[in-house]
Amino acid sequence: MDDLKYGTRNKRGDWAPNEPAGTAPLFTFPPRPLALLKWLPHYFLPYNVLFALSAVAWWRFVLPDVEVMKTMGWGWILRLFLVNCAALLVFFGVFELRLYILRSQGNRFKYNGKWPSEQKSKAFFFESQNVDNMLRTFGTGMPIWTAIEVTILYLYANGYVPWLTFAEHPVYLFCLALAVPIIHETHFFLLHRLIHWGPLYRWVHSVHHNSVNPSPWSSLSMHPVEQFGYLGVAFWHLIIPSNPLLALYQLHHAGFGAIPGHVGFDKVELTEDTSVDSHAYIHYLHHKYFEVNYGDGLIPFDRWFGTFHDGSKDGEARMQARYEKKKARANAAP
Ligand SMILES: [Zn+2]
Ligand SMILES: [Zn+2]
Repeated sequence: MDDLKYGTRNKRGDWAPNEPAGTAPLFTFPPRPLALLKWLPHYFLPYNVLFALSAVAWWRFVLPDVEVMKTMGWGWILRLFLVNCAALLVFFGVFELRLYILRSQGNRFKYNGKWPSEQKSKAFFFESQNVDNMLRTFGTGMPIWTAIEVTILYLYANGYVPWLTFAEHPVYLFCLALAVPIIHETHFFLLHRLIHWGPLYRWVHSVHHNSVNPSPWSSLSMHPVEQFGYLGVAFWHLIIPSNPLLALYQLHHAGFGAIPGHVGFDKVELTEDTSVDSHAYIHYLHHKYFEVNYGDGLIPFDRWFGTFHDGSKDGEARMQARYEKKKARANAAP
């Protein structure tokens, strides 16, 4: 595909889309019913359906009987941990292999002209972004992911939290399943905003921001505290009356779903003339400029709080004006 039909490339080799990044037409006022209708398939395809189906598959093929999950046994926990690791290795690995190792589409649609593997940095373990990212993902990320999962399943299995069944509450649980991405966006925005506060940023979130030029393995490369806070979105299903399957979906949505924002390419080419949008631009701009786009745009939080950057010249000017104001405020402080 010719990426210059869709965007421009600057002297440094960075590609940017012509169309400014948008937020979903879900919470707009006045409502835009036509835009909403056109956008609706993206709410399900491809990612959300995939993560919901993966939760069903885990329930059916990976998890043991509820009786077994009533006790913390090493057998089923270790098995779950290994399956989670293998699944993540395959899912993230496919993107890494195609786009970064085989470079099957070269730098077409690639936001940053440079390749992380060619830039050594002291910020990373062994000065390598990939090695550092993978160590953090599998060293702390996957144990934390599995620990959260096991805790939730154990609490449900023992009846310590209400377990609504699909037979008795089909409509309520269906609506709750539809709300999973909305719960995610709200949780992510609030957590993300919090860990951008100075001391927490330096202690916790700076680890994730070491990857200024994110690639697939950056997705879950975070400080363990952030990994716990981020994947802990699934705990909402202990507070909201729910079903363990939806808790699993929420967890997979966060864990596997971290990748679209970090893929580094605007479109992933499938054939000569077909491609899938990554929807990565909003979060790519966050990694580039830090203090914009705390959310992923499903709910227009950043528009409401004045921190939205759509990648256009106007967006750039709004960001600069905000920085100037902030600087002036800091200088005026005693
Ligand atoms: Zn990120
Ligand atoms: Zn951030």
